[in-house]
Amino acid sequence: MAASKKTEELDALEPMLTRLKLTAIRDQLDTLLDQAGRAELNLREALSMLCAAEVARKDERRIQMGMSIAKFPCVRTLEGFEYDAQPSVDPKQIRELATSRWVANGDSVLLLGPPGVGKTHLAVALGREAIVRGYSTLFVPATSLVTQLVRAHVEGRLEEKLVHFAKPKLLVVDELGYLPFEANAAHLFFQLVSRRYERGSMLVTSNRSVAEWGGVFGDAVVATAILDRLLHHSHVITIRGDSYRLRTKRRSGLVNQAGANPETTN
Ligand code: ADP
Ligand code: MG
Repeated sequence: MAASKKTEELDALEPMLTRLKLTAIRDQLDTLLDQAGRAELNLREALSMLCAAEVARKDERRIQMGMSIAKFPCVRTLEGFEYDAQPSVDPKQIRELATSRWVANGDSVLLLGPPGVGKTHLAVALGREAIVRGYSTLFVPATSLVTQLVRAHVEGRLEEKLVHFAKPKLLVVDELGYLPFEANAAHLFFQLVSRRYERGSMLVTSNRSVAEWGGVFGDAVVATAILDRLLHHSHVITIRGDSYRLRTKRRSGLVNQAGANPETTN
């Protein structure tokens, strides 16, 4: 009698775990209980171990969801960044940024430098760190952002778009300055920057130095107003040096280094 009551309770366990959305515990129940048994855990320890499995699954899901919402163009991590290849990047500063305290504070990060030096790599990797720490993040190439704002403006939906881009705690705008903005676009970008100002963080990558932004925006006054806000609480990282892609090619002898014999270069 007692045994069959116990079986009934066990049978009810799976539906209960489902109802409580404890799916990791449900799916790995036998394995987890085995582990707990073998480790001779007491009830409290076993419960803690089951909860840890559930928390790990929930975190993993949350990060996956955050990553898909962020729309990163590629997978890049800080672990995959070689500091030796880019001596102008300070590992200590990147480690500090990886804590995402700057996102919590609503600061901005500007990553400046020529093509191929790892700006997008670091932008995506820092965006990922922000998601891991629970901050909603959206990645958008600057040209796409501007096209969307201009179109929304023409169609009378600007407010909706501004809300969309102002909402994430971190907005990553990649490759600002590859194409100059038209005057109206610069003004729309300014509206977005002011709306986010001191509320959410922005990470902007650009191949132009800050001094050249007047030319990028086609209007020195708007450029100054944008920079004023972006630079107020900011971390500016200027990367100098060679393109990582070319460096790899140079090493394999595909591209000649000035004065170097490809056969003796490694
Ligand atoms: P940028 O955005 O500055 O033009 P990317 O971030 O797109 O440059 O870098 C070009 C390629 O080289 C990418 O695949 C990137 O992952 C890689 N890369 C650049 N710098 C590094 C580095 N220091 N360590 C590892 N990979 C790098
Ligand atoms: Mg890039």
